[in-house]
Amino acid sequence: MERAWHAATSEETLDALSTSHEGLSSDEAGDRRDRYGPNTIGEGDVISPVWIFLHQFSSPLIYILIGAFGVTIAIGHYADAIVIALVLVINAVIGFVQEYRAENAMAALATLVSPKARVRRAGRVSKIDSAELVPGDVVLLESGDIVPADLRLLNTTELRLNTAILTGESAPVSRATAPVDPETSVVDRQNMAYMGTTVSSGRGVGVVVEIGEDSQIGTIAGQVRATERAPTPLQTRMHRFGNRISVAVLGLAVVLIAIGLWQAIPLADVFLLAVATAVSAIPEGLPVVMTVALAVSVRRMAGRNAIIRRLPAVETLGSCSVIVSDKTGTITENRMAVQRLWTADGVVDVGAAEDPDGAFHQRDGPVSIESGSPVYDTLLAATLANEATIDERDDGSFEPVGDPTETALLVVGRKAGLDQDELLEDAPQIGHLPFESDHRYTASAHLVEGAPVTYVKGAPERVVTMCETIETVDGPEPIEEHDVLAHADDLAGDGLRVIGMARGDGDLTSGEPEGLTFLGFAGIIDPPREGVPEAIDACYRAGIDVKMVTGDHAATAKAVSEQVGIASERVLTGDEVAALSDAELTDRLRTTAVFARIAPAQKHRIVTLLQADDEIVAVTGDGVNDAPALKAAHIGAAMGITGTDVAKEASEMILTDDNFATIYAAVEEGRTVFSNIRKATTFLLATGVALVLAILAAFGLAVGGVIPRDGAGLFPLLLVPAQALWLNVVNNGIQDVALGFEPGEREQFERPPYRPDAGILSRQLLERTIVVGIWLAVLALAVFWYEFTLGMTLGYAQTAALTTMVVSMALFLGTCRSESRSVFEKSPFSNPLLVGGTIAALAVHGIAIHAGPTQLLLGVEPIALDTWTRILVITPTVLVVAELHKHWRSD
Ligand code: ADP
Ligand code: MG
Repeated sequence: MERAWHAATSEETLDALSTSHEGLSSDEAGDRRDRYGPNTIGEGDVISPVWIFLHQFSSPLIYILIGAFGVTIAIGHYADAIVIALVLVINAVIGFVQEYRAENAMAALATLVSPKARVRRAGRVSKIDSAELVPGDVVLLESGDIVPADLRLLNTTELRLNTAILTGESAPVSRATAPVDPETSVVDRQNMAYMGTTVSSGRGVGVVVEIGEDSQIGTIAGQVRATERAPTPLQTRMHRFGNRISVAVLGLAVVLIAIGLWQAIPLADVFLLAVATAVSAIPEGLPVVMTVALAVSVRRMAGRNAIIRRLPAVETLGSCSVIVSDKTGTITENRMAVQRLWTADGVVDVGAAEDPDGAFHQRDGPVSIESGSPVYDTLLAATLANEATIDERDDGSFEPVGDPTETALLVVGRKAGLDQDELLEDAPQIGHLPFESDHRYTASAHLVEGAPVTYVKGAPERVVTMCETIETVDGPEPIEEHDVLAHADDLAGDGLRVIGMARGDGDLTSGEPEGLTFLGFAGIIDPPREGVPEAIDACYRAGIDVKMVTGDHAATAKAVSEQVGIASERVLTGDEVAALSDAELTDRLRTTAVFARIAPAQKHRIVTLLQADDEIVAVTGDGVNDAPALKAAHIGAAMGITGTDVAKEASEMILTDDNFATIYAAVEEGRTVFSNIRKATTFLLATGVALVLAILAAFGLAVGGVIPRDGAGLFPLLLVPAQALWLNVVNNGIQDVALGFEPGEREQFERPPYRPDAGILSRQLLERTIVVGIWLAVLALAVFWYEFTLGMTLGYAQTAALTTMVVSMALFLGTCRSESRSVFEKSPFSNPLLVGGTIAALAVHGIAIHAGPTQLLLGVEPIALDTWTRILVITPTVLVVAELHKHWRSD
């Protein structure tokens, strides 16, 4: 029964839930967790196994096999019929197992990045899985959060929610805490934050009133959680490819039947021929190889810290041509420390930046920070207008909690002897404007000796323009904006992130602060991440452009880009970008790689213009305002550590280590999977080409009377359907999957990105398939003809032809491992699965021609040593043909 939580006061709500502003005790939370169960809705989007199984039968190629099954029964070839039926079942089972495992693997990865909530329990704030929330928990909200349960708000600061998921209205609505009329509709309940809505800006605190299925969204979950599972582009291309093969196969069958009728060949023989040709041409193993290769890739990416949220991203990564990256935290470490302070009193260097006890140096000696000096007041403002906290431990150690820029300022204040808690006791906070990238400053109002005082900290040009005076050792003096900003530029030129501090009278009720007194700058160092310069270099070699987009100052951006080796004609700032038309900006994007003081909306514009210019764009993001850019890009990559829920939700991929190098790693894997699928396609298609050609040639020769009927009057068919399937499904099937496990090749990473509209096979590969296919057909036909004219039975000659194909394919597999490099340069140990697969395929075939049941089903018989010898002598020529083609025709 839903209660009218919105009509109760905060205190009534807390009482009704037996909780307080400090939150539940952990014992109580544990009890409630047992009582109420997890805060989850439904089973998520698990796809039903039955559906996956049935899905295995929904392809035209399978329909052809089903048709072939019918035909073989009709003409009384039961062995073939049984084999076709077995193939249908085996195919479905393998396909099912692979797809089911891939689904589960994706689901397991999703839990790695499951939503978290910041909860206050027994007065302490910690991050827990949202699923662990219970009624009565006190939850903290900030911009970018997805509200983790239905909350009755206790406290709001500029809190605005996007409630589109519930109301369809996407303009942010502001929130408050006072009770509203019980009859108020869900949409208008000002003091509630419902699960699934998102925080557009501001901060808030709320108490959990309903969880899981009992939440507003839980009651309508069915509609919201509909799963979209579109096929990946490669899968779509494969479907098209399959359809084309199906049409060709059907056409061919019709032609064969017509010729057979015209030549007055018995109908049963003609049908058998048509079926044999059809099942030969179908690359039965391809869908499974695709599933396996994609699954392998997703797993490898996860191993390299990239969690894929949407499968198509795997392939898109292989085509990625531009990476638009944030600076702070992605290219740099986000391990900030204040290194230098500037005030009207000069520069103060901070020794041992990250050490809480590091000394301060000014000009030629250590200094102590005197209370009331400009430096002291700068640090005071930085400490008070600060959302971070420092957790003191009993053993004297401490841990900063919060945004790294903010904690860096707290730490430097602490070194100078400023204690945030003590300061707040003397100057309690009466108002607060949280930092958002869009306005680039934060303000905090305090009651100092009975009068309101506002402290501001933010980007230099934002803060300085709010100031009328500047604090000096002799008191405030009029400010020369230009001179002061030049000092900020100096700091930024050294790669420091610059924050300005100011103070003024009054509280925050009258809009943007003005008439302030400027206090000083803090220059924060944020070193580049290890591995980033190498990754940027690798991107350039792979034909991928790198753009760095930051909200930071132009000089800081320039210094950092130089440190990591981003090549840019110059730095464009947000103001300059705003002044350019789309066409002009598109033009500038071709030569400019560094963008500073960019607002999130401008980042979105950059991404869409690049896309319009035919680039395949990956973009990083963390904040709530990054969501549009993340959504618009081909590959949105959200920060795993600093990313907000909203950013993650909008993304295809999550970087669990926030690192730029991880995007590059994912691109490598994306290229590898595409290349591996190409390799498997080459392998399987060559078999099809060979079998079809050999069967047709044998048919032609038989019709022309060159190959006679055998003693029993049987029509000399090169392979019966069962044998063709044996080769295509069992033998190839054991080996082709191994190609999905091939490690990436350096060549793949030093070529331009794959065009997204490129066919599965390049011209060269298609050519190779045909050349090798023709040669394989020649070999199989020669062996067949030779044995048959030697007077062997048809079954014997067929077995010899089949064995020729089996051995040839085992050899060809090796050359398929690389599109351009020789098989002899590849270590067999770099893919043990492939070697094992080859040995297994040969062994299985050896057993099949000797074991009674398979002899019966496949119509095969043991072959003599001299036949084996002949086969083993001629088949290595396949290597020669394939490698020569590779040598002459590779890009
Ligand atoms: P980015 O994440 O790309 O570095 P931000 O939007 O976070 O850019 O920061 C832009 C500018 O805003 C910074 O250069 C800095 O001057 C200022 N700034 C950043 N974080 C804070 C903060 N927590 N408080 C005050 N000012 C900040
Ligand atoms: Mg930032």
